[in-house]
Amino acid sequence: MKILIIEDEPSIRDTLRDLLELNDHTVLAAGDGPEGIALAADRPDLILCDIGLPGMDGYEVISALRRLPACQDIPFVFLTARAERDDQRRGMALGADDYITKPFTERDILDSIAARVRRQQPLRDRVEQLLTQRRTEVGANWSHELMTPLNGVLGGLELIEAEADTIEPGELKSLLGLIRAGAERQHTLSKKLVLYFELEGLKAAPPSAGTVRCAAAVSVAAGAAQAAQAERRTADLTVRCDPGHVPGYDAHLTAAVAEVVGNAFHFSPPGQPVTVTGTCQGGRYRIEIVDHGPGMTAEQRANVTAFKQFHRNHSEQQGLGLGLAIARATADLAGGRFFLTPAAPESAGLRATFDLPLLAPA
Ligand code: CA
Repeated sequence: MKILIIEDEPSIRDTLRDLLELNDHTVLAAGDGPEGIALAADRPDLILCDIGLPGMDGYEVISALRRLPACQDIPFVFLTARAERDDQRRGMALGADDYITKPFTERDILDSIAARVRRQQPLRDRVEQLLTQRRTEVGANWSHELMTPLNGVLGGLELIEAEADTIEPGELKSLLGLIRAGAERQHTLSKKLVLYFELEGLKAAPPSAGTVRCAAAVSVAAGAAQAAQAERRTADLTVRCDPGHVPGYDAHLTAAVAEVVGNAFHFSPPGQPVTVTGTCQGGRYRIEIVDHGPGMTAEQRANVTAFKQFHRNHSEQQGLGLGLAIARATADLAGGRFFLTPAAPESAGLRATFDLPLLAPA
């Protein structure tokens, strides 16, 4: 931070300068009011100003600064030997943010600075800052995907705790909204994780062949509808499925299709159709989900593994990699395949295919 000191007493000025520089602040120092006002044009982040200055006193300095458009919003803290209430009231009326009484301790100064910085910054920005910090700490591996929504929850709670006594109802509401959104994302993600591990568990100990049958058309239609409703895109969805049975559980195919159809909606703008078909042919049941969005590169398609996530900059796509991993695990478990190809040559869209064995009618 850049801090301007206006103090006529050289020993106090130098002590303050050393203290602030030791704490990584940049210091501008002035010995009287006019010099201080001139330096304030440099837009310091905070001004520490003595009241008892020769000539122009501290009250006159703040009055002058509050009239200058470029300087009127700079946080202003009085340094004063006089802690009388009247002085304080007068200073506050002139727009001072705080008082530090001389003689002061290092803690007094640093606490006052920290408080000014906090108050300057809207809470939402501070949550963002916390999140960025945590993201950096967590790193860019799969745990990122698990941790991100929870960071919003923890960051919001941390701030509410810190500000519990002074928080405005509006700020509180906004923070609670942030916490709820994070919690909901985490809930969705947890459900996906549970499903993914369930599928992995079944791979290790699969049910014996032919014992578990899934009505494909019903499950596919249910999953597609679920995704379209969640994305508010029911008007863009077309589903056309042949009746037929495939190995596996209805709930798993429904969830897998919902993930893939959800991705298709994410990658294509509203108004663009997403088509879901289920076709019986040559002993296979082929489910195809086609969108007209920007699609993926061949490299991205090859990278469809658990926890990988594409277009990471789109935060609303959290959990995408896990969704595709669920689709792949569901297909594997049924003894089939899941793969992604361009919707058509030269097309921006994506075709996701479940190629599954068709079971003989029971
Ligand atoms: Ca003085």
